[in-house]
Amino acid sequence: MVRSVRDMDIEGKRVFIRCDFNVPLDDFLNITDDRRIKSAVPTIKYCLDHNCAVILASHLGRPGGVHDPKLSLEPVQKRLSRLLVPSVQLSNDVVGEDTQEKVKNLKPREVLLLENLRFEKGETKNDENFAKKLADLADFYINDAFGVCHRAHASVEAITRFFDEDHSAAGFLLQKEINFSRNLLKNPSRPFIAVVGGSKVSGKLQALKNLLPRVDKLLIGGGMAFTFLKAQGIDIGNSLVEEDLVDEATFVMARAKELGVKLYLPVDVVAAQTCSQDSTMKFVPTQEIPKGWMGLDIGPATTRLFREALNDGQTILWNGPMGVFEIPKFSRGSTQISHTIAEAHATTVVGGGDTADVVARSGDADDMAFISTGGGASLELIEGKELPGVKPLYNKDED
Ligand code: AMP
Repeated sequence: MVRSVRDMDIEGKRVFIRCDFNVPLDDFLNITDDRRIKSAVPTIKYCLDHNCAVILASHLGRPGGVHDPKLSLEPVQKRLSRLLVPSVQLSNDVVGEDTQEKVKNLKPREVLLLENLRFEKGETKNDENFAKKLADLADFYINDAFGVCHRAHASVEAITRFFDEDHSAAGFLLQKEINFSRNLLKNPSRPFIAVVGGSKVSGKLQALKNLLPRVDKLLIGGGMAFTFLKAQGIDIGNSLVEEDLVDEATFVMARAKELGVKLYLPVDVVAAQTCSQDSTMKFVPTQEIPKGWMGLDIGPATTRLFREALNDGQTILWNGPMGVFEIPKFSRGSTQISHTIAEAHATTVVGGGDTADVVARSGDADDMAFISTGGGASLELIEGKELPGVKPLYNKDED
């Protein structure tokens, strides 16, 4: 078990909380989805209730180590001020003079949000000097940013070198994410069904291999299905394919057979000549994709097939959209699968930013048992990898 914020004696102290406030913004810098901010509130409130002076830090987008006003955390500060009781201050820099001054004057039960961590080059380089400057701001370190735990960045990994076991722990959100993912893989109620999609096999190959011995059924949709269909000798036209992974796809299918895992692939697709809303589309069986056309979503027969296959699931894990859901014409397959999973009488777990987005757009977010906030991180947990941000938060004598 990771160490919990509850295990630390933080009463009246200065705490640094690494949050994941990497929220989507529209062209006018409005936050379009504030779930990540809301999920950080329990840990922040716990610290405020223990009379802590709270320092919050997060990245937003990819400013590449320079100050970019468009990626300021100001919108996050405003939203946080509405969600938390005290008004939240924002410093003008990350570890500079303004931050030092504001931290010095920060009183118990007050909150200071640092500017975007990635305005400093040291953040993504896991730079120890930068991490030390962050660490010097507080007595305790709390990581509540699951979405970045698979990255060795200064505020996630290097910073932990400056806090001992009694002064560093996971926040409630991180604890929940990790325990949920681990338990899910260890003791799933059966049948355990994994639904995977998205663009590439390459990004999910290891996760697929790791899932195979654990699941009862594997449903593959999205762009990655075409590498498998090609491996079956089907002519997939211009659909997305990773030629160099066709052999791996054959291996995964053979291994599934050996293990008795039922593997489902699309039987029909929504095909078009270009990937745009105004292109002509048609529904075709996968064997009949016309020359020069590509499959951009699963078709109605596949949706029905997948619905049948999901029917008896007790645990359903979903990672990756079934089609190019960003374009309305190719979003129906993903929406339908989202509804089917949401309605299932099963423990339903959604991982990945895109998939969480599909679920939110389909209005199904409240009906899923668990939506992981971190896409890459949740995949790496499934792959069985040790996350660099989480490893330092285990006690030395535990796994
Ligand atoms: P990933 O990041 O690998 O999870 O992939 C997510 C992306 O896959 C989304 O942006 C989708 O638009 C894309 N995608 C899903 N299905 C297809 C498809 N059939 N062809 C091309 N791209 C797809």
